[in-house]
Amino acid sequence: MSIDARALAEPVPGTPPDREALTAAMQHANLPALVPVLHQLTGDRRWLAEPYRPTRSRGMDDNDLGGFPDDVQAEIRTAAVDAVLEWAGGRPAAVPTPTGDGLLELLRLAVGEDVPAEYEAMTAEDMGFRPPEPAHRVPEGTAFRVIVIGAGVSGMLASIRLTEAGIDHVVLEKNDDVGGTWLENAYPGAGVDTPSHLYSYSFAPRQWSTHFGKRDEVLAYLRDVADAHDLRTVIRFGSEVTRAVYDDARQRWTVTTAGGEALEANAVITAVGQLNRPKVPDLPGLGEFTGPLFHSAQWPAGLDVTGKRVAIIGTGASAMQIVPAIAGQAAQVTVFQRSPQWASYNSVYFTGIDEAVSLLMEQVPFYRRWYRTRLAWNFNDRVHPSLQIDPEWEHPERSINAINDAHRRVFTRYVQAELDGRDDLLAKALPDYPPFGKRMLLDNGWYAALRRDDVELVTEPVAAITATGVRGSGGTEVEADVVVLCTGFETHKLLHPMDVRGRDGGSIHDVWGPDDADAHLGISVSGFPNLFLTCGPGTVLGHGGSYITIAECQVRYIVEALTTMAARGLGAVDVSPEAHADYVARQDDAHAAMIWTHPGMRNWYRNAAGRVVCTLPWRIVDYWGMTRHVDWHDFTVEPVRP
Ligand code: NAP
Repeated sequence: MSIDARALAEPVPGTPPDREALTAAMQHANLPALVPVLHQLTGDRRWLAEPYRPTRSRGMDDNDLGGFPDDVQAEIRTAAVDAVLEWAGGRPAAVPTPTGDGLLELLRLAVGEDVPAEYEAMTAEDMGFRPPEPAHRVPEGTAFRVIVIGAGVSGMLASIRLTEAGIDHVVLEKNDDVGGTWLENAYPGAGVDTPSHLYSYSFAPRQWSTHFGKRDEVLAYLRDVADAHDLRTVIRFGSEVTRAVYDDARQRWTVTTAGGEALEANAVITAVGQLNRPKVPDLPGLGEFTGPLFHSAQWPAGLDVTGKRVAIIGTGASAMQIVPAIAGQAAQVTVFQRSPQWASYNSVYFTGIDEAVSLLMEQVPFYRRWYRTRLAWNFNDRVHPSLQIDPEWEHPERSINAINDAHRRVFTRYVQAELDGRDDLLAKALPDYPPFGKRMLLDNGWYAALRRDDVELVTEPVAAITATGVRGSGGTEVEADVVVLCTGFETHKLLHPMDVRGRDGGSIHDVWGPDDADAHLGISVSGFPNLFLTCGPGTVLGHGGSYITIAECQVRYIVEALTTMAARGLGAVDVSPEAHADYVARQDDAHAAMIWTHPGMRNWYRNAAGRVVCTLPWRIVDYWGMTRHVDWHDFTVEPVRP
């Protein structure tokens, strides 16, 4: 099956699968996801009790076998085959839409541990067991137009939801295709490090070929979603927005593109991400290198590094993916590391998704949903409590609390095992700051690559680029044919380089200063009426999970605001200075108690003054609740001016 034809529909009864094929596929089932399915299909409560209760996952492990002894595994698989065949043959599921306590009971069963009751609402909706509250629709012909800036993950979502709400809109995209970061980042090894079944829109499941989709597959997915929702008809490609100005008197935004086109709208949604504008360090000699020198996000199409000497600057997520991908192909890879990173092990990182598992997702009702929900639990909020600073903790130089210290021991043992016998590398690659202090990475062959004879790790900050390579601050000279700047993005300059002006012509960059953006819920900025941000300040996930979940929260909130405006005849909505300041104070207080403000490491989440600008301090379930509905007490509203 080609990777561009893998949209996944929910199984429907009526066409019983082949028993033999289903039985064989069951050998590959994730049993903790299968037990709740058994209960839903049969209604039998015995599946909720011992010996059918799986153990919890350790770390990010899928825990396919659920800790069950062989005989219980066999019993679950056999019962599941029978139950699916009966259901496919016409016997309705006994518990098709569990909600409330029933859903919580199944959720706790599936993840093998307690889950707070507050997760019920978010889970029920994500699993489709409770339909989302009907979106308001704007009556046909309503004169209300929105401009969306960007056609990446968030902008595409905004367009889909605006269309559903009947809101006239256009999407302006600087590139010639959808996909945003997934279109632009085409470096070798690029891919997600959130499991793909979670890093998907809740309404657009897919039959992923690997657990952690590589860039081409993620981009194919986004293109398919764009086609399925006919997004290309509302997207203007090759339209880079340079300016957006609000006219108070007319209650309108005027958005200008690099091509000089000016478009008007009642409201603007920015969907430009935080990881879009490459950060190129101001290194001496940058212009002197005679070979290809580029940022990781601008890997030249067709560049082949076979037999070349490649210098990599940086050791973040991008470098960690590039180095293993080119090691062995390049003649020599030299990595300049300013500081080491924590990277953890994932047992299925390299594993393709077996056809058998795909068959289960296609034919076993509810199975995919439970599989995704287990991922959501394991990857989203589970780690959040362990990122709170314990003020009494006696070893702040290495960790922030007892659990974080235990995480440190686990990750340290892993790095020690990977670099066994290479104490020289261990001394260079083992971080001294607490794990999760920078964005946590997944080991995709990084340590194995470092061990290679043709890979060298230089732990000197870069002093200069020369005509023939890179010079470290300790004097190390490295000759290179290609230099790759894996130096991250302008994460503190949100909306940069657009010139965004609100009431009275005030510039958003004057309000925020060079690196200190904030917004109410990360979405609204006081003084900038009818402007809504996705992936705004304080909304990137630092504790794990899928950014798409956050985008879905934001877009739901924004579309509710817009439909309300159109329905009530509101010409301008502006978050009040008090509501804005109150939210930011709460956000900063929460961050002050969390790991990313901890001294002793550098991360791209906080600015020069140490304030965390980028990441969400809340659990996802909290943010889901905060963005559930617009609280109009937070806004000043004006009727449409005649
Ligand atoms: P990054 O995490 O910000 O890493 C930048 C690296 O460059 C760091 O190692 C940094 O060192 C180093 N650096 C920056 N300026 C330097 C200078 N002047 N001299 C020497 N070294 C310098 O950037 P990234 O790797 O592009 O990743 C950014 C984010 O994009 C990730 O955190 C992630 O959210 C996302 N991303 C995700 C994936 C994925 O899903 N797998 C892949 C790529 C990117 P210090 O650490 O000392 O600052």
